[in-house]
Amino acid sequence: MSALEVHQFTCRSDNFCVLIHDADSGFTASIDAPEEKAIRQALGDTGWELTHIFCTHHHFDHVEGNANLKAEFDCTIIGPKDEADKIPQIDEAYGHGEHFSFGKHQVEVIGTPGHTLGEVSYHIPDQGMAFTGDTLFALGCGRVFEGTAEMMWQSLQRLAMLPRDTIVYCGHEYTLSNAKFAVTIDPDNQALNTRLNEIIQLRAENKPTLPTSIGLELDTNPFLRPEDKNIRENLGMMEASDTEVFAEIRARKDNF
Ligand code: ZN
Ligand code: FE
Repeated sequence: MSALEVHQFTCRSDNFCVLIHDADSGFTASIDAPEEKAIRQALGDTGWELTHIFCTHHHFDHVEGNANLKAEFDCTIIGPKDEADKIPQIDEAYGHGEHFSFGKHQVEVIGTPGHTLGEVSYHIPDQGMAFTGDTLFALGCGRVFEGTAEMMWQSLQRLAMLPRDTIVYCGHEYTLSNAKFAVTIDPDNQALNTRLNEIIQLRAENKPTLPTSIGLELDTNPFLRPEDKNIRENLGMMEASDTEVFAEIRARKDNF
């Protein structure tokens, strides 16, 4: 079984899109379909033929390309069971704990509601790869639109349990603004400060800051660290629950 090939690119204003290609089966999946035109361009660049779209959630900037790409490529559209009715042209729907195959690779579906009520992430264990949509971002997490802070915190904990070396692809390149916020919450975190400088450098060169990894996020992403003593001290929340600390960090980011 050969490794999946990955082609990543940005589209729309700040969406981050990934194509994965399995040379053994010839399958190619787009993780979400944020922009038909950009995906067609990426398919042209790689010479891959689109066979699947894995949708993380129903927002327009993740499903815009579904209908037209389906019409042209007759690709299989996979999406979250809990909001399947909102995913255009969906063929197969899966919920938390279910899995499906992509060639010989198994794809595990992790329910990660909060940003939307049905959002899922996709994990390919044999490749150590996860696609977290608008749930986990580099140094951030998605806005809690449809769910509750508690729900989002539980979703993030599911992702935090993945192996540290899991490579994480997210739905948006928001890393620089997330980093500027993160240092206000966790100012003395040396790994975070080092990362902020690397991110400033990468963005100055117009390079992506993604993918990231679970380990790096556990060490530097304040949304995964509500138990951290320094963060709690900084927020004056030594006695609060992790959910309360998470909710406070999320609320501050909403107004940052
Ligand atoms: Zn979204
Ligand atoms: Fe989005």
